[in-house]
Amino acid sequence: AYLDRIEATEPAIHAYLALDAEGALATAAEVDAARAAGEELPPLAGVPIAVKDVACTRGLTTTAGSAMLAGWVPPYDATVVGKVRAARMPILGKTNMDEFAMGSSTEHSAFGDTRNPWDLDRAPGGSGGGSAAALAAFSAPLAVGSDTGGSIRQPAAFTGTVGCKPTYGGVSRYGVIALASSLDQIGPCGRSVLDTALLHEVLAGHDPLDSTSLDAPCPPVVDAARRGDVTGLRVGVIRDLLGEGLQSGVAARFTESLEHLRAAGAEIVEVDCPSFRHAVAAYYLILPAEASSNLARYDAMRYGVRVDGASAEKTMSASRAEGFGAEVKRRIILGTYALSSGYYDAWYGQAQKVRTLIARDFEAAFEKADVLVSPTAPTTAFRLGEKNDDPLAMYLADITTIPANLAGLPGLSLPDGLADEDGLPSGFQIYAPAMADDRLYAVG
Ligand code: GLN
Repeated sequence: AYLDRIEATEPAIHAYLALDAEGALATAAEVDAARAAGEELPPLAGVPIAVKDVACTRGLTTTAGSAMLAGWVPPYDATVVGKVRAARMPILGKTNMDEFAMGSSTEHSAFGDTRNPWDLDRAPGGSGGGSAAALAAFSAPLAVGSDTGGSIRQPAAFTGTVGCKPTYGGVSRYGVIALASSLDQIGPCGRSVLDTALLHEVLAGHDPLDSTSLDAPCPPVVDAARRGDVTGLRVGVIRDLLGEGLQSGVAARFTESLEHLRAAGAEIVEVDCPSFRHAVAAYYLILPAEASSNLARYDAMRYGVRVDGASAEKTMSASRAEGFGAEVKRRIILGTYALSSGYYDAWYGQAQKVRTLIARDFEAAFEKADVLVSPTAPTTAFRLGEKNDDPLAMYLADITTIPANLAGLPGLSLPDGLADEDGLPSGFQIYAPAMADDRLYAVG
């Protein structure tokens, strides 16, 4: 049924970069046979899933949305992909994304735009716009995403779906193409909070192959989602994320949801996080710095596009000139500059200090509240092309999501109804302390 749905929706949506119909049907048939034989199966056995094209899939192309990796077929599975296979979930295919996960609209993909199923002239958000659009178009029930600055949560908000960025280290990054290693986190995407929690439990857990993986069990997210109890819970509204640039329809839905929480027994308090106003500036130094280092491996020698030149150095530069798109080059240049000798302390060092201040703001806020909340994004989905030529406008819209990545904390976005002025989905975001991912689901 999902493969039929993909065939019907893909011409208009373009959520997928690669399909594996044969593999998906084979897994489904195995599950059917096992079920008929009375075998005990994991909870999501037979439920299809899409995987963002940033995670390596053995035998299936993995490009990270970049011409640099066009046609590359990994010889191994990312740990999360292995977990999905062990859960007996048929993998439908790989979903579109901004190149190397840099962007908020999926327009930076080297393989064309993905369209928002709610309005085909709008962006589905990014960088994981392909997965979110697939969920909203009902061409996948679940998806694996990655969130370095909001790439799971913001597309969820733009498409009326659910997405969770787990606590940093809660889900293995092994075999997932790196963007900024201290910020990257893999997580679940779904259409309901409970579906997302079920996938969260499949993906989470310690992995010795990832040195930043936490050696702790997955918080009880499914139980929390099922219980959904907020009695006596202190919900902190982050005042600093309700300022300038917030669309009125998004603000209205957010305020209504606070009323729902109050009616359900939660206590609503207000908190201040004054350093958040520097979060975008710090993030857009730390991310390019780490990305410029991670992307150094695309040297035309080991893998990727190769354009031969007169020397090794010329081959390398010609290949990188051809393989990388404009946004990736912009960030490599920014990052290399921020890390260069003489500028390191002024830029990168300074940004790291801001990062500490943001973590302290969270600590102080969590003394007054058990969870913190904000709109997931300041606006509903913008039009394709609207922000494409203005990188700064695109970056500024990340203000609501990047504090979680800078502090390593978990965050969840869920649908918050439609904004009155454009009838498009808005998102409600919940933040919790590290390793308290279950609270997100209880509130969600
Ligand atoms: N919009 C953010 C960026 O462009 C999102 C990155 C991400 O989460 N992968 O960096």
